[in-house]
Amino acid sequence: MKKKTESLSRRDAIKNIGLASGSLAFMPFASPLLNPKEKTLGVALVGLGNYATRQLGPALLHTKFCTLKGIVTGTPEKETKWQKEYGILPKHTYNYETFDKLADDPAIDIVYIVLPNFMHKEYTIRALKAGKHVICEKPMGMNAQECKEMIAAAKAANKKLQIGYRLFYEPHHLKLKEESNKPFKGRMKLIEASLSFDMAREGLWRIDKKMGGGGAIMDLGIYTIQAARRAAGHNPVSVFAQGYVDDPKMYKDIYGTYAYQLRFNDNTVCNSTVSFSAYSDRFHVSRGNEYLELQPAFAANKITALTTWSETKETLEHDEFQQTTQMDAFAKNIFENTPVIASGEEGLIDMQIIDAIKRSIELKKEVGIRYNE
Ligand code: NAD
Repeated sequence: MKKKTESLSRRDAIKNIGLASGSLAFMPFASPLLNPKEKTLGVALVGLGNYATRQLGPALLHTKFCTLKGIVTGTPEKETKWQKEYGILPKHTYNYETFDKLADDPAIDIVYIVLPNFMHKEYTIRALKAGKHVICEKPMGMNAQECKEMIAAAKAANKKLQIGYRLFYEPHHLKLKEESNKPFKGRMKLIEASLSFDMAREGLWRIDKKMGGGGAIMDLGIYTIQAARRAAGHNPVSVFAQGYVDDPKMYKDIYGTYAYQLRFNDNTVCNSTVSFSAYSDRFHVSRGNEYLELQPAFAANKITALTTWSETKETLEHDEFQQTTQMDAFAKNIFENTPVIASGEEGLIDMQIIDAIKRSIELKKEVGIRYNE
């Protein structure tokens, strides 16, 4: 109970500080005047697992334009715990049977889907049909076709859709994008991206093909692909990928480790590895004899500095939780009816690239990436 009081008063304090806060100075919409309705948008979190518990719930105590108002969970003990911790009312508490009743709850503006990958499409579309804006966690869907259906559903409902791509709003990644896209004289732009956690264990939905869609390539590959696209300034045209299995009992129908080379239509190449059987978290861009580097590069709230052109390590001001900036940016899009940066279309491109990576492994050759199908 004490924690709740402290947390809520911290949130109120942050909301009152406005521009005076150094961390908020980084937010592209720090002025409270940009919120025409002078209210925050109500968010309902769907799926109260690790990410919702460790990152999104705490981040929502710091958001300026969003408030955690509702939850959807299949576990009654979690209902009580979250109600107490975040002051959520029973009338805004749902389970998977009552999910569609969200349509009749005016306190909920945004439904945030934090479920295993195979459930993203279904719950995103149901939330859109309930008349809500939706944030859907990464990877957007199980394949490009699912992403297209989700984009179409958002259009049909005339609601906004954001993918939970926190790094689209992270200052070190934004600076890296700006620097790496400046004109240069070198011959090649070489990108190296790796993200791995030694996390495979029996029963984990992430290593079940039907639930996770392919293990590390779906869960972690998405970050390396996005970062490579940002640093390149455009999208890759082809990919050559390899899959490795260190433990056939663990990885029954997926690979534990994926290596892939993305080729762009200029002299840019990105070499990547992702794995559930090792550790790495690194992003490196070189041109001529200079380089930009982030390490750690992708793990939530661990990015501390960007090495800029081989020389200085720069630490940029950032929010304590990357998700705070991400969710407030979405609220701003809703208030101002502006395009979403981490859009469904971005999620679709990443999934088209992942589909090509899987195809390349199967065919054992370099394949073109199909953006127009
Ligand atoms: P998790 O396994 O900890 O949580 C999943 C939740 O879904 C659990 O509460 C579980 O009870 C619930 N659930 C409901 N129906 C289920 C079913 N049929 N099978 C299994 N679980 C069911 O997973 P997580 O780590 O919280 O990941 C959830 C989503 O968030 C994933 O899509 C993941 O990729 C994404 N994620 C994103 C980030 C990020 O940095 N953006 C970080 C971690 C996870």
